[in-house]
Amino acid sequence: MDMVTLTIDGIKVEAPKNATVLEAARKAGIKIPTLCFLKGVNEIGACRMCVVEVKGAKSLQTACVLPVSEGMEVVTNSPAVRESRKVTLELLLSDHNLECPTCIRNLNCELQKLSEELGIKSIRYPGVKSKAQYDDFSPSIVRDTSKCILCRRCVSTCHKVQTVGVISPNYRGFETVIAPVFDMSLNEVPCVNCGQCILACPVGALKEKDDTHKVWQALADPEKHVVVQIAPAVRVSLGEEFGGKRGGIVTKKIPAALRRLGFDKVFDTDFSADLTIMEEGSEFLERLQNGGKLPLITSCSPGWIKFCEHNYPELLDNLSTCKSPQQMFGAVLKTYYAEKMGIDPAKIFSVSIMPCTAKKYECQRPEMFSSGYQDVDVVLTTRELARMLKEAGIDLNKLPDEEFDEPLGISTGAGAIFGATGGVMEAALRTVYEIDTNKELENIEFTDVRGVEGVKEATIDIDGTKVNVAVAHGLGNARKILDKVKNGEANYHFIEIMCCPGGCVGGGGQPILSADERWEMDYREVRGESIYEVDRKMKLRKSHENPAVQTLYKEFLGKPLGEKSHKLLHTHYTERGLY
Ligand code: SF4
Ligand code: SF4
Ligand code: SF4
Repeated sequence: MDMVTLTIDGIKVEAPKNATVLEAARKAGIKIPTLCFLKGVNEIGACRMCVVEVKGAKSLQTACVLPVSEGMEVVTNSPAVRESRKVTLELLLSDHNLECPTCIRNLNCELQKLSEELGIKSIRYPGVKSKAQYDDFSPSIVRDTSKCILCRRCVSTCHKVQTVGVISPNYRGFETVIAPVFDMSLNEVPCVNCGQCILACPVGALKEKDDTHKVWQALADPEKHVVVQIAPAVRVSLGEEFGGKRGGIVTKKIPAALRRLGFDKVFDTDFSADLTIMEEGSEFLERLQNGGKLPLITSCSPGWIKFCEHNYPELLDNLSTCKSPQQMFGAVLKTYYAEKMGIDPAKIFSVSIMPCTAKKYECQRPEMFSSGYQDVDVVLTTRELARMLKEAGIDLNKLPDEEFDEPLGISTGAGAIFGATGGVMEAALRTVYEIDTNKELENIEFTDVRGVEGVKEATIDIDGTKVNVAVAHGLGNARKILDKVKNGEANYHFIEIMCCPGGCVGGGGQPILSADERWEMDYREVRGESIYEVDRKMKLRKSHENPAVQTLYKEFLGKPLGEKSHKLLHTHYTERGLY
């Protein structure tokens, strides 16, 4: 690699020729503050927080977009630099709704932290504030531009990472606002509710729709039987909200926490992930063996489904008709479970804890009432659950280990790996292979489909039949393989698509990392590794071996793809157009 030598604050630093001054300084342990910078996503030099002095330059330079050069002399901490950063920050604050104590990002806000670090103790420029928009019509995402600092991190995420592109700067100068076209609501444009913009936002201008009050109300109602399911990815992230390490596994603390909140039964979405595999695996084999529509594309990720409905209507027949594990769970809960326990389904209140903001949208879709009731009443994100626990004074770290309730809390490792990109594919392959061949799989770990590479491909030999599979996570990566399928350039049989980068572990409802932390670690990879550790420690690791799922078929459903399954566990899709 070609290297150059420069000095930063008098220290000799070696850096690759294509590095920026910001990168070279970080490598040398010198911190230059940033605000609009988000590594690999938003590197535009817009906020001017990273200004530095460069010998020979007429004005201060922005380090995040400034390439290093041989012999360059940089000063990151001169009076002019400090004053410039302070003035910039004070101007930002002068047009900001400074209601920190009631703000969703209080104590986890990059603007607040930077103000503290730069020693801002007063705002010298009070004056007129720009006109704000508050948009809470979406079932998933709330926009509050009174807290927006126009950093454009959300814009780059929505356009570049997700290739959805529904938010952009509207108007100019002081009037600028980040919003959908014509200042429409996010609910009126092809937003897929993924929440990746929330994870990118340094402040409280974007947040999930808070549904905690609905759950508090149900928990306080003695007439209601309140049941909760918890998604695979939440067990490797909830602990972060209580000071635990990134990706720490807290599976057994979760039932204890939820019981203390007052839930009547604590079940596991891993159970219905196993059920999904039974249905989806059977659907795949059926299509493969009977000349059905291929490639089959997975349908667990509601943001991906909406993206497909808007952008690739010609591929809707390729989508698996299986509902997501969340929705299968809801349908089974208000039918099989209600019947088995002798509880009136009208009295069951079904809550789901998800890493995902799009699930809030999914549970309200008209197709998701197949039990005769809304199958899942409320979806809370990991962050909302953490807030409820804190409000109730429950410290996750101080709880004993407890187990999920039976029967809908019994699961296998295959259900757990749904939380990471490639996991649904791997879980399906474990079952499809054994069901199709009647032979035991020697190595159940399909490592080719694991990891955070954007697109992964593999060919699997199922008793002489070569099955070509592909896995994509993040909608930008999904587009790459979907375009190939659309243009007849690929010969895939089975495709897994997850809307969020990293899969559900990187979902839009998960704990939020600062830009600095995101630079230091690939949190999706870290949480993904924990998911595979959960799987390795499970006694059962294949969905078809789940005894509770076997009993469900025996007592209620009959067989995969049977009549009852079709009614309760399968769905259909709608072409939506772009505007
Ligand atoms: S976004 Fe940050 S600085 Fe603004 S009100 Fe919220 S916590 Fe305070
Ligand atoms: S939720 Fe996703 S699609 Fe919607 S604006 Fe945010 S990033 Fe874009
Ligand atoms: S909404 Fe958040 S991420 Fe988007 S421009 Fe405003 S402050 Fe930045």
